[in-house]
Amino acid sequence: MPQDIPLPSRSAPPAEDEIAPLFSFDNSVLRLPPRFWRKLTPQPVKAPRLLALNRPLVAELGLDADRLAGPEGVAALAGNVVPEGAAFVALAYAGHQFGNFVPSLGDGRAVLLGEVIDRQGQRRDIQLKGSGPTPFSRGGDGRAPLGPVLREYVVAEAMHALGIPTTRALAALVTGERVLRRRAEPGGVLVRVAASHIRVGSFEYFASRGDGEAVARLVEEAIRRHYPTADDALSLLEHVVAAQAGLVARWMAVGFVHGVMNTDNMAISGETIDYGPCAFLDAYHPGTVFSSIDTMGRYAYARQPQIAAWNLGRLAACLLPLIDRDEDKAVASAERAVNGFFPIFRRHWLDLFRAKLGLAGAEEEDGALIADLLARMSRGEADFTRTFRGLATGRAREEFADPSLFDDWAAAWRARLARNPAGTSAEALMRSANPRIIPRNHRVEEALAAAEAGDMAPFERLTTALSRPFDEDEETRDLEAAPRPEERVWRTFCGT
Ligand code: AMP
Ligand code: MG
Repeated sequence: MPQDIPLPSRSAPPAEDEIAPLFSFDNSVLRLPPRFWRKLTPQPVKAPRLLALNRPLVAELGLDADRLAGPEGVAALAGNVVPEGAAFVALAYAGHQFGNFVPSLGDGRAVLLGEVIDRQGQRRDIQLKGSGPTPFSRGGDGRAPLGPVLREYVVAEAMHALGIPTTRALAALVTGERVLRRRAEPGGVLVRVAASHIRVGSFEYFASRGDGEAVARLVEEAIRRHYPTADDALSLLEHVVAAQAGLVARWMAVGFVHGVMNTDNMAISGETIDYGPCAFLDAYHPGTVFSSIDTMGRYAYARQPQIAAWNLGRLAACLLPLIDRDEDKAVASAERAVNGFFPIFRRHWLDLFRAKLGLAGAEEEDGALIADLLARMSRGEADFTRTFRGLATGRAREEFADPSLFDDWAAAWRARLARNPAGTSAEALMRSANPRIIPRNHRVEEALAAAEAGDMAPFERLTTALSRPFDEDEETRDLEAAPRPEERVWRTFCGT
């Protein structure tokens, strides 16, 4: 009998080593003990389709946009397959939610695909949010509706363009499946990039279990990834305090309300993370709350600094045994570090708002001048973004229900401007500190509604415009407008 001659294969697959993997992962997370993570298997979605791909970020990460947009890339970004070299784990964390401790939260609808080293040599996590259930899902379905996915995409990218530390959006996909929330909605997956996913709640998870060894390991990891100059738990805490103080001051300066500042939503890196019911102020009022679940106003605009400091107190509590063997001494050092939040925050806040007012140099009375403007804006129902931008364009007074509120203040402001050091361009300073456009709630919701109906054009237009928020542009004047009363969004939803 002649030997069977194998049929020629349709097209011989190239040897494995000829195809570069889609991602060059380098997963330090897997070097952490297994109690830090749970290995996942893909929970494929029916018909994933790429809706948005952030090409500048793709390039920053050294990835191949065309391959990511192709079938192999889409399958990986949807979490339908485990790409070569991926970690594919859910991370364990706990957290204080609205002040109450929950000992086990964890990635319930997210998978850490892996870590890559970007073009600047920085280690970045790539995470899929909404890709399916994990051992931490508890009652949840592990999925995400498309609306919140696109919302996080727009807002995170807008924050980045505003110069605010944040996780980024690499891609958004629609899954081809429906998820049931208040109604049946299209499902989505957000591909998120973060400096890391170490949260205050990551420390709380291990500290609450009495696992001091894991807390110490996490301290090492946080130092290695984010604060290489820190040399112990106390100096890590001081670095995180400083980073958060700078971050929250930046939020305040653009009128951003995070909405869910639970300790599991506070990143050790100092990046803004977990965009849920977040929103930007329209008319300024310090007590503004958007989130439908924040019934007590715990996370109102003006409370954000206090809440950040409270969260840092929870981090400090986890670190006490590492700070000093003598508990009293540990508490004293930790308290000092956490209380350092307020002067650092104040310094950033003054610098940021001075620039918003076009003030160079520092005078004792600057803080009072800024506070007076804000108080008048609140009384005059002045739009936050338009009023500050209007200081440079001469249109600020129009934003006040009663323009005399502005005029009385402006005399003192002009007198202070006259004392700017010679050679200062107050106008240039104000134009670079006060964005012309922000992701207005009504515009975001309009773009999401269109996307849900299959039209991505408004989303693309909005994200493109928001990538240059300080520049003048005749084409996008409409995005400057404050909402008309009937357009105004008062409540936002987690929608997770
Ligand atoms: P977040 O709203 O992102 O702060 O999430 C709070 C916690 O709830 C985290 O542990 C999430 O993983 C979990 N979670 C939120 N949505 C879902 C979902 N659809 N399925 C499973 N877990 C979820
Ligand atoms: Mg969260």
